Amino acid sequence: MTTPPSYDAIIVGGGHNGLVAAAYLGKAGKKVLLLERLDAVGGAAVSAQAFEGVEAWLSRYSYLVSLLPARIIEDLGLDITLVRRRYSSYTPDPADPTRGLLVDNEDPAATEASFTRIGAPADEFQLFEQFYEHCRRLTEVLWPTMTEPLPTRSEAKRMVTDAGGASEWEAMIESPIGDVIRHLHTDLVRGVLLTDALIGTFARADDEDLQQNICFLYHLVGGGTGDWDVPVGGMGAVSSELARAARNAGAELKTNAEVGAIDPAGTVRYSVDGIDVEASATWILANVAPSTLGKLVAAGTTVSYGREQLAAGEPSAGVFEARPFAAEQNPNHLREGAQVKVNLLLKRLPRLRDETVSPEAAFGGTFHINETWTQLDDAYFAAAGGDIPHPLPCEIYCHSLADPTILAPELREAGAHTLTVFGLHVPSRLVDASNNDEMRSRLQAAVLESLNSVLAEPVEDILMTDAAGQPCIETKTTLDIERAVGMPGGNIFHGGLDWPFLEDDAPTGTPAERWGVATGHPRIVLCGSGARRGGAVSGIGGHNAAMAVLESE
Ligand SMILES: Cc1cc2nc3c(=O)[nH]c(=O)nc-3n(C[C@H](O)[C@H](O)[C@H](O)COP(=O)(O)OP(=O)(O)OC[C@H]3O[C@@H](n4cnc5c(N)ncnc54)[C@H](O)[C@@H]3O)c2cc1C
Repeated sequence: MTTPPSYDAIIVGGGHNGLVAAAYLGKAGKKVLLLERLDAVGGAAVSAQAFEGVEAWLSRYSYLVSLLPARIIEDLGLDITLVRRRYSSYTPDPADPTRGLLVDNEDPAATEASFTRIGAPADEFQLFEQFYEHCRRLTEVLWPTMTEPLPTRSEAKRMVTDAGGASEWEAMIESPIGDVIRHLHTDLVRGVLLTDALIGTFARADDEDLQQNICFLYHLVGGGTGDWDVPVGGMGAVSSELARAARNAGAELKTNAEVGAIDPAGTVRYSVDGIDVEASATWILANVAPSTLGKLVAAGTTVSYGREQLAAGEPSAGVFEARPFAAEQNPNHLREGAQVKVNLLLKRLPRLRDETVSPEAAFGGTFHINETWTQLDDAYFAAAGGDIPHPLPCEIYCHSLADPTILAPELREAGAHTLTVFGLHVPSRLVDASNNDEMRSRLQAAVLESLNSVLAEPVEDILMTDAAGQPCIETKTTLDIERAVGMPGGNIFHGGLDWPFLEDDAPTGTPAERWGVATGHPRIVLCGSGARRGGAVSGIGGHNAAMAVLESE
């Protein structure tokens, strides 16, 4: 028998976080092997030519960047350009779509006038501004901690309190976010605030488990300000840069390499073109979701060490445990995804029913459709009862307005634009293998109906067609996303998000515990979205896993 090749670290999964970890560990002189199941790295942070024969490179899944720290960009020497958008959001009034709220970051007077136009009370604009000012008292303090060992809850609270944010801590961390959003008067404005708490999270504003607060915090904490920027060249450009940094640092990146089993003693089994291969390492970094890791470890443990041997206590207990740790340790890791994603390519931007706002301004930020607080709540209950919400709450982004480089010059000159839609409150329990095709087309119809309710023309009329004459639209259910990039239940964060601090009584004895990447297996750490603080396109999961490994030596 030949000895399997050995490494300092094997990274299971080549999403952007795996690439960040590979780059940091490679730079530190470690021998690193990264294994990616697909034929390209990047995971859900990729660009794709989604429509046959049409040269438009869409950010297929994730599209905006807020949480990627400048520290990671600098440490790894990444050439990434992020564009700040002038408009924060546009929200047509569902009761009268000929008017809507346009939040213009560069023109407070115009924004205030827009609040008046939708019939908001005189102090609503001020309350809206104050709401975000208050949030910053908390986020500006917590943001720098995201790439440091975790503070405890008490330490984090003290830091925020010392910075004058005691009441903000109470409002955002201790009680349902609905309580503070209710300070605003208008259903529409409340909805604009609430959506940040519900992206990829099937929850309500008043839920006692506060999962919506955690989601809200992650949407506001990036850079301390919560700005969401457009990556020039699309998400693929971000992952390409990370792959370049990882390769330059000496990491070996293998694609078409699917890991089937992880033995917690340090062996990884994977297959390349149907051939089984083994490699071993001091450290295993899991860029896959925690629940996927649980299955891979169960497979690895069963293969290597039969139940009898485990029962007999061989080898030493604690190292070769066979328990499915993810679910048992943290049921939050099993939370389902709750969205539908639709990508479109249009001949031009659609005309709006609201003639007071230009399509360039409306689509220049986040375009909220049917997302008042009441509509979001109704949608939650409809979905919880097994139905597709009607109307379906949606958010829309236009990448090509901020960054036309993703379109071939002839498309740009002809005025073409990409739209990407994120439909909320479609929990994965509504979709399964038997109804996936039917649900995909029903969800696509629901998204188009919701969108058309605020347009002056059906969006179908301005869809481009691909080389085969098919309309340029693609829809991804939670199951499609699970199958494509391996996110269980289509959960865009690999499971429920966690607070960016440890509870006061949580163990902190190992670097992995202090960095929020521990798994219960001493040689395996999480290095993806499922790590504490790892959610979204941030590289933080990869960074923190690499720091834990380096600190352990
Ligand atoms: C529709 C959608 C929209 C989103 N929008 C945004 C957004 O705008 N901004 C944002 O910040 N975040 C967004 N997100 C979330 C963000 O994309 C993810 O949190 C992030 O990409 C996770 O990165 P990761 O590297 O941790 O994992 P992933 O990107 O999930 O990568 C994990 C990798 O592991 C591979 N893998 C799985 N199993 C195996 C195996 N057995 N062997 C080998 N490899 C394996 C997968 O193929 C994948 O490449 C969105 C996600 C989705 C799905």
